[in-house]
Amino acid sequence: MSDSSQQGDPQDYPQQLWTNVLSVALDTPLRRCFDYLPPLCTAISGDLTPLPGMRVRVPFGRQQLTGIIVSIKEQSEVPSDKLKRILSVIDSQPVFDAQLLKLLSWTASYYHAPLGEVMATALPTALRGPTALQAKVPGWRITESGREAHNLGELKRTPKQAKLLGELIAGPRPLKADPSLRSLREKGWVESILLLDSPQASSAVPPAPSPTEAAPTLTTEQSEAVTRILQHPAGFTAWLLQGVTGSGKTEVYLQLAEATLKTHRQVLVLVPEIGLTPQLVGRFTQRFGADRIAVMHSGLTDTTRLAAFRDTFFGRVRIVLGTRSAIFAPLSTLGLLIVDEEHDASYKQQEGVRYSARDLALVRAQLADVPIVLGSATPSLESLHNVSRGRYQPLTLPRRATGAQPPTLRLLDLRQEKVTAGLATTSLQAIDRHLQAGSQVLLYINRRGYAPTLACTACGWIAPCQECDARMTVHRQADALRCHHCGAERPLPRQCPTCGHGLRTVGQGTERVEESLAELFPTTEIARLDRDVVRHARDWQSTMARIRSGTARILVGTQMVAKGHDFPDLTLVVVINADQGLFSTDFRAAERLAQTMVQVAGRAGRAHKPGEVLIQTEYPEHPLLRSLLDGGYEAFAAAAMQERQEAAWPPFSHLAALRASALELEPAIRFLEDARNLALKRAPRALRLLGPAPAPMARRASRYHAQLLLEAPERSALQRFLAPWIDAIETLPSAKRVRWSLDVDPIDLF
Ligand code: ADP
Ligand code: ZN
Ligand code: ZN
Repeated sequence: MSDSSQQGDPQDYPQQLWTNVLSVALDTPLRRCFDYLPPLCTAISGDLTPLPGMRVRVPFGRQQLTGIIVSIKEQSEVPSDKLKRILSVIDSQPVFDAQLLKLLSWTASYYHAPLGEVMATALPTALRGPTALQAKVPGWRITESGREAHNLGELKRTPKQAKLLGELIAGPRPLKADPSLRSLREKGWVESILLLDSPQASSAVPPAPSPTEAAPTLTTEQSEAVTRILQHPAGFTAWLLQGVTGSGKTEVYLQLAEATLKTHRQVLVLVPEIGLTPQLVGRFTQRFGADRIAVMHSGLTDTTRLAAFRDTFFGRVRIVLGTRSAIFAPLSTLGLLIVDEEHDASYKQQEGVRYSARDLALVRAQLADVPIVLGSATPSLESLHNVSRGRYQPLTLPRRATGAQPPTLRLLDLRQEKVTAGLATTSLQAIDRHLQAGSQVLLYINRRGYAPTLACTACGWIAPCQECDARMTVHRQADALRCHHCGAERPLPRQCPTCGHGLRTVGQGTERVEESLAELFPTTEIARLDRDVVRHARDWQSTMARIRSGTARILVGTQMVAKGHDFPDLTLVVVINADQGLFSTDFRAAERLAQTMVQVAGRAGRAHKPGEVLIQTEYPEHPLLRSLLDGGYEAFAAAAMQERQEAAWPPFSHLAALRASALELEPAIRFLEDARNLALKRAPRALRLLGPAPAPMARRASRYHAQLLLEAPERSALQRFLAPWIDAIETLPSAKRVRWSLDVDPIDLF
């Protein structure tokens, strides 16, 4: 079979008698599939034989919906005179092959989500409706008189045209119009038509240009990592590649991808939302050519997303590079999966189907029986735990590939220092010193906007969000107050709405730090990088250009700066406030804080200019900060792991969160109490029920939120309990008064 062979070859499926009943998944909140009779094999559907994975149009109540055939059964529990008929089969082949169907069913059952909703998540928006999988592409076909002309051997004097005619006699082809085709058309021997896009059509795509970038010689550690993975017996193995920032993990991915492409297999690379920077895409396209790569992320238009799906489906691309939902990319000959920054929280979908793309990547690698590489400078405690249990194979890149020294880290005690505009005197002196030396400096602050609080100077009024239990953030540039929890926006008031006195801003945000630095360093150009800047693509690009060219020498940014960007001369990083996260109620807050700090710190230092990192804190004795500074991420992780074990938090237990929200708190709590009572009747003894409790910020976007947390020592026990419990919850009268959802392996506790 050729390499671009298609999904859903009918031979992949057991022989089906297609006069039977078809079970169809529909994108509805109902957790079940629906039975339909096959279409009448007349004009409506042509002769498309329904197969699992195929999309169909079906009547549903008074609407028509697009669904996916999940299985073909002998009979239905629904009486046959009540069964409706499928209206039409949309494509001539399944959109999901057998392996992907298995992954989707696994997802639905593990996360207790409706299969139809999972399948919709896996498709681009356009294919959730009746749009055909195959696009129409312009092509040419031979006419009757053209056939005669060819048989008569005319056109001896125009060999080019004769050759074209010879090609078209075998069948229509997607060709670009050229003078030869045009003169054949003038003779009436060929005509232009629209062809269905197909793998055959793609053979007309020119071969990828040869790579413009040569691979560097690997360091010893890199080459050992690549060799160990490639020489490992074929089949599923999970590798945890732990390498400090700049240690050359990306280079390892590139070389593994190259080796995989040589075996005519495809590669799936997952990156966090924020990590899909032009730089990473650039490195892959430079190495393999843009024609062989599809990029999939949430910022694509529907049209581009559909095109990327089609290119992948029809085997035109060999590498898919994408964020979370790319885990469902229709790759039929997968040979390798890579999850970069595997610890990143953005792999977890927080609404709809609450899946973890990192965890699904492991399932997909197992189904495909191929290796998977999880990479990170700061692996999640879950993954480190899997290494210690022998489930993942560890690989380490301890040094920076370019030979740069690791940066030195130091804590600055904010209580001992004079602080100006949020910056300790030691920080200001260091900024000055590094700027004098011609370097760039980075100020990291975890808050965008001007200031987190707007307060009255006289009566103590604080600008609240009307929809949430939260303060509104001052945005000076937009001249507005914005809520970072619900998105509400109001004009910035000039005086206190209750007493009429003046207002003052309290605290620091990126805008304000930028403003203060402009006053302190008036001759130095400053660039700000946060989500407000990224919102405008042009601002973002020009800001990045100013940084990369070295015009901007002071950078102020949020998490946006922590990953994926190379700053040419950055030697100093100042973390303005490390204290958010030290005392959080979320048991993962400390891990996140450590990961962010290591990541931001990793931005500092070049081969000839060692980096310096200053972390401002009011708690320099905090054990987390101490272990991180004294022993690095390893020491931190070891200490955090111990704490998790003692408290029986993940990875030493498994969680599921049942959440509810309503316009008042009472119905949400009532529902969760009912659910808890149901659970008490049937829960295994080892299952702990925590709550129900209102969220720390109970009111958000006008709704009250509450949660019931379930904790079990074994994943399987939790899963066995959840399925019947959810079925029972669905029938609770109190469920009708709330919006509720189940989150398996939640990563945010609220
Ligand atoms: P990571 O993904 O671990 O942060 P990268 O793969 O981006 O690291 O590598 C960091 C820098 O080192 C990049 O500029 C890259 O081009 C360079 N680099 C990586 N591997 C090598 C190598 N073997 N020899 C020289 N430079 C390398
Ligand atoms: Zn007031
Ligand atoms: Zn709000």
